[in-house]
Amino acid sequence: MIVDLQCIMPSLARVASCFHTKIVSTHEKARFPGVEHIEFKEEEAVNTARKLIEAAIDNFSRRDKSRVHIPKEKMDVVVGFTPAGEFHHLGGKYRATYRPLNNAIIEGRIRGVVAVVGCDNPKNQSGGSHIAMVKELLAHDVLVVQTGCSAIACGKAGLLVPEAAATYAGLGLREVCEAVGIPPILHTGACVDNSRILIECCNILKEGGLGEDISDLPVAGAAPEWMSEKAIAIGWYAVASGIFVVFGSPMPVLGSPNLEKMITKDLFDIVGGGWGFEEDPVKAAKMIINHLDIKREKLKLKPMMYQPQAVAA
Ligand code: SF4
Repeated sequence: MIVDLQCIMPSLARVASCFHTKIVSTHEKARFPGVEHIEFKEEEAVNTARKLIEAAIDNFSRRDKSRVHIPKEKMDVVVGFTPAGEFHHLGGKYRATYRPLNNAIIEGRIRGVVAVVGCDNPKNQSGGSHIAMVKELLAHDVLVVQTGCSAIACGKAGLLVPEAAATYAGLGLREVCEAVGIPPILHTGACVDNSRILIECCNILKEGGLGEDISDLPVAGAAPEWMSEKAIAIGWYAVASGIFVVFGSPMPVLGSPNLEKMITKDLFDIVGGGWGFEEDPVKAAKMIINHLDIKREKLKLKPMMYQPQAVAA
């Protein structure tokens, strides 16, 4: 197993010592105690890769089959919706624009677009909060975009396939997904690709009919199980761009009533976005849905075409 500059806990080396897995670190800023280090340099990429493959081959004889636990369950996923590609999925070859998406929002088929992203937190049942939040949003005709570990959690639960629209999406969202053959959740990459979601917001804005600023759009972001410091930085750039962002557990800032008021209320008047904190993923989804409805009302959009669906198990 190769670990680089990513949110891998140093305790991984201790866990690996219980098995037959060799761990190699490759980034000078992410050296782990007791782990072999093979520095990765771009100009020597092929040689380094060979060295790593040889290390894996050498380690193969240590494999203890009784300690290999690969789950039998398999799940299909449809992934890789980039801001450029979405034109083609949503608009088709001849209407390669965001117009069909904007129209679906304006007409009340899709309530809004919400990014449910971020870490899978070992303090929760793995992925449980992501799945509960996403199901609630889909039933309320919210198109969900996902990245990172959040997308993996929902992918494993069978939510990243076009067929999921029939089971989990409200009637309006389902109509759109079935017309173009997309899943009700669009997977847009790793958690470091969250900036793509902001590009998508800009594309929606440029297409027209949904306001003048990102803060006008019926959109929001959520990280129901965040745990990495990186999630805070990502959340802040979304907030600073004018987006309402809900975290599961609060950042450790609530000891100061002034700061709490600043980031959860006052900030909306300054940058158009702000923070919300709610540990219950269904309650958090309802906060988000309420936020989308307020934005829709401000934009004077049509009422939603259909009543929300019951949330499927
Ligand atoms: S989503 Fe969180 S845990 Fe997953 S890779 Fe990104 S920062 Fe790490």
